[in-house]
Amino acid sequence: MSKILIVEDEEDLLQGLAINFSNEGYQVLKATRGDEGLKLAIEENPHLIILDVMLPEMSGFDVCRELRQKGIEVPIIMLTAKSEEIDRVVGLEIGADDYVTKPFSLRELLARIRVQLRRQPPHAAEPMPRYGFGDIEIDFEKFQTTRKGEPLELTAKEYDILRLLIQCRGEVVTRDRLLDEVWGYEAYPSTRTVDNHILKLRKKLEDDPANPRYILSIYGQGYEFIG
Ligand code: CA
Repeated sequence: MSKILIVEDEEDLLQGLAINFSNEGYQVLKATRGDEGLKLAIEENPHLIILDVMLPEMSGFDVCRELRQKGIEVPIIMLTAKSEEIDRVVGLEIGADDYVTKPFSLRELLARIRVQLRRQPPHAAEPMPRYGFGDIEIDFEKFQTTRKGEPLELTAKEYDILRLLIQCRGEVVTRDRLLDEVWGYEAYPSTRTVDNHILKLRKKLEDDPANPRYILSIYGQGYEFIG
């Protein structure tokens, strides 16, 4: 089921869209403020975002820009007011995928959503060229990582583990899944191997590896990336 985040401060519009999206079989997340929308976008990893431009606390433009800067490539459809022709241009420049001008027909918006979701199948090993969190910047294509601008050495396995955890951010990744997807058919690693790699990663990435902020242990289940 595709998960859609709607960030819109007009309560009636927000509720109307939410009900209609649910009827279409989408899972819906809602936010009425820009900062709140940004937080949900990062933590809940939606498949698509409907993003109003004029929002309290943080504009839709800033939300979009910040997500793209983090390397989050989720499709974003911006909602712009009729008089804001300029919005459309700015929106596309900062990395939005499409825009709809208010007032719009529900049918049109749903059609555009389907186009965007088709372009990017849900969570299908999305290529993730780079990602940033805290002081860390990771380039998965060049295998380069920096912390506070200083180069940081990570092994190939560590890149694989991080990529999987970040792609699944906000959800628990079990040790078995890590073994399957990172180690595959190699040798006979044990879940202990996974734990050792996680310990090493935390030493490299966390300010306080004993109290991790980004790579959390979920007792009895596995690991979860937040950031
Ligand atoms: Ca608004």
